[in-house]
Amino acid sequence: MLRHDFSGTKRTRKNANRLAVQLTNSSTATLIKKFIRRVLRLGKKSGPHVIPVKKHGVRRDSISHGARKVCEGLQQAGHAAYVVGGAVRDLSLGVKPKDYDVATNASPDEVHRLFRRSRLIGRRFKIVHVMFGAETVEVSTFRAGDSSDTDEHGRVLRDNVFGTREEDAARRDFTVNSLYYNPTDETILDFHDGLHDLKKKSVRIIGDPRARYREDPVRMLRAVRFAAKLGFTIDQQTFAPIAGMAGLLENVPPARLFDEMLKLLMSGHAVPCVKQLRTAGLHHGVLPLLDVILEQPLGEKFVMLALTQTDERVQKGKRVSPAFLFASLLWHEVLAEWKKQQHAGQRPLPALHAAMDTVIDIQTDKLAVPRRFTSIMKDIWSLQPRLEQRSGKRPFALLEHEQFRAGFDFLLIRAASGECDPELGEWWEAFQHATPDGRERLLQAPTAGENRPRKRRKRGPRRTEGGETGENSGGGLPTPMDT
Ligand code: ATP
Ligand code: MG
Repeated sequence: MLRHDFSGTKRTRKNANRLAVQLTNSSTATLIKKFIRRVLRLGKKSGPHVIPVKKHGVRRDSISHGARKVCEGLQQAGHAAYVVGGAVRDLSLGVKPKDYDVATNASPDEVHRLFRRSRLIGRRFKIVHVMFGAETVEVSTFRAGDSSDTDEHGRVLRDNVFGTREEDAARRDFTVNSLYYNPTDETILDFHDGLHDLKKKSVRIIGDPRARYREDPVRMLRAVRFAAKLGFTIDQQTFAPIAGMAGLLENVPPARLFDEMLKLLMSGHAVPCVKQLRTAGLHHGVLPLLDVILEQPLGEKFVMLALTQTDERVQKGKRVSPAFLFASLLWHEVLAEWKKQQHAGQRPLPALHAAMDTVIDIQTDKLAVPRRFTSIMKDIWSLQPRLEQRSGKRPFALLEHEQFRAGFDFLLIRAASGECDPELGEWWEAFQHATPDGRERLLQAPTAGENRPRKRRKRGPRRTEGGETGENSGGGLPTPMDT
């Protein structure tokens, strides 16, 4: 026993030396040495791991022209500059980045002066947009996560204090988003074991999850988005507090929530995102009654069809309209409210307009859909009853409507979800592409469709798949419409 052998210190030292010699020769010794080195490194004031290109594989020619030019320009002027955030994460995974962010120790004014085609953005905390043809690179100065100014729930109100590179890395949300790539020597600076988490396919928040969500509740939505987009799992400790803290999203400014939800819905992975939101308990309150919609067979079918279509378009690189997306997400809310207004004695058309306004007002309270989108949403919704009218001059006028295409696509989703007769969609498809004579024939042809204006029939509420005649059941539009 080494510890108690006071009388034989010499012998003990001899034994220890012999042991050390033996250890030096064995592989265990190598392991122990590695371990000690690691402990010593951890003890040091936290420096990043510098990962050479042969370990991460991100070559300088794989980054965009603009990002490379910005880093080179800043470095030649004596500043530090790195590609950061999503771009490094995506490149390490072999995915093409959506856009590029650069972090630097140069001040925004210095950046702006260095690049002719650049502009300063933001009032309090300025960032710089540097333009290269169609590409815009966002350049931000290293920031410290300053949490001195918060609201009563702990949400950080200001993020406008410059900091060191280390502080900049620590204020980022997830370890996989905190990698700093230097195109000049092709190294990645890894402050929080992000590359390890990338290999493990894990979304792990930096620091204490509860504290980080309190500072910025939007990080909970971001965790869901990245997990769905990258096919990763959310690290257990990062995931655990989310359900209990979801209510904090209520205090996030509605415009900010809109931006983050839009990123989520337009990520090309909206379906897994929405499913994950539900698993995480985050769907309440973000989009009013998204939970209710998702629990209705027809509502869920409709929303999922719209999201699937959106995902397919994004993945094919096609344009997606946020207005169409939000119109889809809120449609069953509009239907329910429309019915309610009519039960209260409103005539169909004013009832529809009142319903649209009510739904948008409730929505905007929590998640501010900008006005430029809400006006298109209203057009898409109010086109639905009008598309049921297939006689006289009306169909010709509708073809000229600015939102006809969106309204028609919307109709097709309604038909596919079982909410209206697919024949209506087929008729419009044929009508759009027919010759003038063909159009005349279509107008005159008797169809199996309902709601022909001249043949209005009164009918009782239709039964839904679930056998109910619920408000939100979507068994066709609430009543035949006359516009
Ligand atoms: P995407 O590919 O979807 O753009 P991204 O990681 O680049 O993903 P952005 O929203 O563009 O996401 O943000 C850029 C970077 O800024 C992130 O990678 C992260 O480092 C940091 N960041 C963004 N939002 C937050 C936040 N709420 N809290 C902390 N860091 C954030
Ligand atoms: Mg980004």
